[in-house]
Order: sequence, then structure tokens, then C-alpha cells
Amino acid sequence: MQDNLTAARPSFVTHLECSMTGETYAADQLHGLSRVGRPLLVRYDLAGVGAALTREALAARPTDLWRWRELLPVRRAESIVSLGEIETPLIDIPKSGGPGAIVKDEGRLPTGSFKARGLVMAVSMARELGVTRIAMPTNGNAGAALAAYAARCGIETVILCPEETPEVNVREIAAQGARVYRVNGQIDECGAIVGRGAAEGRWFDFSTLKEPYRIEGKKTMGLELAAQCGWELPDAIFYPTGGGTGLIGMWKAFDELERLGWIGSKRPRMYAVQASGCAPIVRAFEAGEEHAERWENAATVAAGIRVPRAVGDFLILRAVRESGGRALAVGDPAILQAVDDCARKDGLLLCPEGGATLAAYRQAMRDGLVDPKERTVLFNCATGLKYPLPEAGTWLDKDAVGDLAAL
Ligand SMILES: *Cc1c(COP(=O)(O)O)cnc(C)c1O
Repeated sequence: MQDNLTAARPSFVTHLECSMTGETYAADQLHGLSRVGRPLLVRYDLAGVGAALTREALAARPTDLWRWRELLPVRRAESIVSLGEIETPLIDIPKSGGPGAIVKDEGRLPTGSFKARGLVMAVSMARELGVTRIAMPTNGNAGAALAAYAARCGIETVILCPEETPEVNVREIAAQGARVYRVNGQIDECGAIVGRGAAEGRWFDFSTLKEPYRIEGKKTMGLELAAQCGWELPDAIFYPTGGGTGLIGMWKAFDELERLGWIGSKRPRMYAVQASGCAPIVRAFEAGEEHAERWENAATVAAGIRVPRAVGDFLILRAVRESGGRALAVGDPAILQAVDDCARKDGLLLCPEGGATLAAYRQAMRDGLVDPKERTVLFNCATGLKYPLPEAGTWLDKDAVGDLAAL
């Protein structure tokens, strides 16, 4: 079989485009945000892609992330910094979710989270464009993925975490060779420090959506889902939303696939799930706003979605509204209950952010927003093993075990 990593890759990137104004920017140059301070989106010659690649040819390739190379920005195979980005499985959870619930389990990717999809692309492009030093604010998983890929290709990294970032993430980042700092502030306050250093020319700013390629990596979740579902998208998607890269990326992927004629016009209803202790997108959705104000005193066990302010807020809100979905908030007790139920009844250990999607899905069924029989995909974006688990393990003295019937 053909190897996706080393295969020749005619790139079909034509240019980049401001997501707010549509202003165009040249490909093959280093870019951050657009002139108006908004994310840049990568555009492709989709007619060219369609002429070069059929769904059948794609189906014959190994099923990793790089099978989608014609729809990805990397021009040179040598730029790719891979750690084995596999296609993640769809797993039903009939007991804790019901007959329509399917989990896309992203915890199996390198570094244990779907941040690997975004960072493998962003780091490969940084390498292609000659970047040598990168800084990033992170709640944990993005920093871990950046550290791993950057270590692999010798790019230096400086990573700033809010002080309540899970301990395992901070240690994982350090173990993979990054310089990591805990900061007495939220992720956007860490981002302000990174932005200052970037303005001083000390490093390249890798904050969520502040460089254009992470979204292209995250987009592969949507491409993969379409192929896995036989080119018929599910009825609904529940996505744990922090910066929203994945939701925006999937929405872009569906659009590209329709232009290629590989899927029809049917779209899933997109549900952006947040924690009630940090729900800026939900508040803006309910108020009918196009942008979301900063959420003060953000607090939730689901660290990956503790994002008080998102630079792509209007893109998240736009996709959710166009899809006929909603933004939903769930409390920490419901999140932890969902994690517990799914592990005990269906044997799948979700991360708290994944638990949030299950909790929101159950609430949406109760509220009549989704039918239990509809095909609904819940994103579990990291392995549950990266988070503190409840204490367990009753002591057993090997010399006084007694009656085994009691065990
Ligand atoms: C980063 C992260 C999210 C949020 O992803 P975005 O695409 O930035 O909204 C959700 N869950 C986990 C586990 C994460 O690490």
C-alpha cells in the first residue's frame, strides 16, 4: 500500500483569507492574524483536488490523517513531523448515552488528545516556513502536543499555563522538552504575555487560531467523520467548545467536501458545549450576539474548555446558527456524573470535556432538542487517563485475606 507520509503531495493551497473581511493573503509565507485581528482561513483549488482525487482512491489509502493530503496545507513531505496520527474510532455507548449516541474517541491520538491533529499541522507548517522558536498559552493538552512535535524537529518552545492546569499536563509538557511556566491568570492572560513576546520578535505566537494551520489539522475530524459515516453526515454533533478550532474546522471541512461533490447539502446540527462555570459562547448565543464578551471568574473541572474569550467567537456562533444547532451549558456535577456513568456502564473512560458532551446530550434529549434515535456524535477529545481520577483501592493484607467471598 502507498505510504501517506512519503507520498508526493501536490499542494492545492491557493491563498489565505481573512475570516471576517475576506481580504486575501499569500500562501507560503508566515502569517498570524489578519490585519483586522481575526483568524485566517486556508483556501484550496477544490476543482484541482476533485480532478486529482476520487473518493475511491482515497478509500484505498491507509486511514491516517495524511490520507487527506490534497486538502491539507503542507507542500513538502520532508516538512511533516509525524508521531502516528491515526484515524480515531467511533464507539457506541448504548447504556450511558442511548441507542443513537456514538463517541468519537480522540484520546487515542499522539499525546492523548485531539490537539495532536492541530499541532502536527501547525508545527509541520512552522518547520516548512523556517520558524525556530514558538510560544503558546495552554490549558494543558495543546501545550503537550506542541512540546512533542516541536521536540521532534528541534523547534524551541516556551509554554504558559494558567495555575490550575492539571499537574499531569504541566509535567508532560516539561518531559517533552519545553520550557513551561504556571501563571497566576487565565489562558487569555497567558496569551497576552505570549503576544507581547511575539511583538518583540522573541518567538512565533501559536495561540489558538492566531496562526492559520491548526484549524486545517482539526478539520480532519470532519473529513474523517464523513468517510467513517459512508459520506452521510450524522444528524447532530456535540462538541466541547473552548477556542472552537474543532467546530470551526469541521464546518469548513463539510463545506469543502460538498464543493468536491463528495457529500450532499445535509449538515449535522452543531451543538457547542461549554461548562456553566465558563460559558461565553452560550451567553452570546442566547443573547443573539455575533461576538462573545469575556467570561469573568471562569471555573470548571473541564480544563480544556475553560476559555473565557475566543478570538474565533463569531465563527463558532455562525456555524452553530447556520447548522440549526445551539450552544449549551452543563454544570460540573452533571459532567462528572456523565464520566462516571460512561465508564461504569459502557467501559469507556471519557475526559471531563467529553463528559460535558454526554451530559449536554442527555439534557438535550430531556429538552426535546434531539431524538434518542438520531445518529449523534459526541466528541471525547482526550483520554480520561490524563485527568485526576477519584481515589480508589481498598487495602488488602496478604497475610489476613480471610474469606474471598467478601471481595
Ligand atoms: C482543547 C480542548 C477542547 C476544546 O477544543 P477547541 O477546539 O479549542 O474548542 C476540548 N476538550 C479537550 C480535552 C481539549 O484539550
